[in-house]
Amino acid sequence: MSQTKPRAPSTPHRQSQGGKDFRKRVQRSKQQTDAPAPQPATRPRAGNASAEPGLVLKADRDKSLLRRHPWVFSGAVERIDGAPASGDTLAVRDASGKFLAWAAYNADSQITARVWSWNEKDLIDKTFFRNRIAGALKARRALGLGRDSNGMRLVHGESDGLPGLIVDKYGDVLVMQLGSAGPEHWRDTLADILQELCSPVCIYERSDSDGRELEGLPVRSGVLRGALPDKVEVTEHGIRFAVDVAAGQKTGFYLDQRDNRALTGTLAADCDVLNCFCYTGGFSLYALRGDAKSVLSIDSSQEALQLAQANVELNSLDASRAEWQCADVFEALRKLRDQNRKFDLIVLDPPKFAPTAAFAEKASRAYKDINLLGFKLLRPGGLLFTYSCSGGISDDLFQKIIAGAALDAGVDAQIVRKLHAAADHPVLLSFPEGAYLKGLVLRVA
Ligand code: SAH
Repeated sequence: MSQTKPRAPSTPHRQSQGGKDFRKRVQRSKQQTDAPAPQPATRPRAGNASAEPGLVLKADRDKSLLRRHPWVFSGAVERIDGAPASGDTLAVRDASGKFLAWAAYNADSQITARVWSWNEKDLIDKTFFRNRIAGALKARRALGLGRDSNGMRLVHGESDGLPGLIVDKYGDVLVMQLGSAGPEHWRDTLADILQELCSPVCIYERSDSDGRELEGLPVRSGVLRGALPDKVEVTEHGIRFAVDVAAGQKTGFYLDQRDNRALTGTLAADCDVLNCFCYTGGFSLYALRGDAKSVLSIDSSQEALQLAQANVELNSLDASRAEWQCADVFEALRKLRDQNRKFDLIVLDPPKFAPTAAFAEKASRAYKDINLLGFKLLRPGGLLFTYSCSGGISDDLFQKIIAGAALDAGVDAQIVRKLHAAADHPVLLSFPEGAYLKGLVLRVA
């Protein structure tokens, strides 16, 4: 059966300008050290051009699909039958011809296909996508996720059965990010469905993630449906944040840290707080509301800091307890150390240093560096909230890096909490890459 034609990869990771800068640095250094740089996609071998569009795997390369991992890497592909364009749906079959999945094809990516469905009877059409999106919305309602916030990730890519599609909701505005060829092909259909199911005043497209380059897709952003209001705001746990949907980082806000920010707020009373990589003030505002004694917030983005200060006003919080610094955190932490400044609670929430495992080594050094300095700046009994949103750094590796940092800083520390992204960023069991955000709360002796 021939199916329709959609067009790329990106995991549902967080992106940020800072992350991009760091990646450039990492890439340069990798080339210098002869470590493998990301490879361009190798085009799969063409098969019978007149056959139905289909992808046939090499012998014994079906294991990952049988475990329901939704990606087909180019190295596993024996041949492509028919003449599918990027984004078209094709049947994936094992070497013996047995059906495995319907998937979106991308000739220009190392991930040659991303699975839409494991069911041969499914037709990949508007009804299919409507059901998938309705399912994602229903799951969030069932989990009571709208109670604490009117901002929410409605669709979390692969983990919601929609590879490459991210949809974030900020009040009555939706932001859609198409990270791969499949959703790129279905762009208008997806926007229609979101309009029908959610009735937003605006659907804004932010298809400008790093991953699109790897997928051979152009960067694109702008209004898709409706009109973008002058001001977009989200209220989470009673705190209001202005969100810059058009020019802010990622889709405008870091929804994934919502519950972790709230936790920080509950532990900040009477503390001198240091919030590194503060963006629009997320953790800082919670700390201020939680009666922190002082909050020093650092970010390299002047625009983000301006919005952060506007957010303090928006919530009528005491601005006199807040200090904002536009600086590189790596340098700022050294200065604070040299000034012998001390804090009771430190948050380190850097951008994605390691988008894939290829970046892990250099990224590990960066994580160790900031965490070592963080440990040194803490008073005895102080708390370090430290995060990694790098898909290329596993939970285990992250914990090892932090252990190394504590050792070199000469402190004894306990893990008192392990943190993850909020529940509107679910992780499909067969897609561990979905668990990109990891956090540790450490208490130093
Ligand atoms: N904690 C924030 C999200 C942080 S995102 C929240 O809860 O909303 C990462 C931030 O790090 C971005 O705002 C980016 O501008 C900033 N950044 C990236 N590299 C940096 C660097 N070297 N020094 C300071 N800030 C940096």
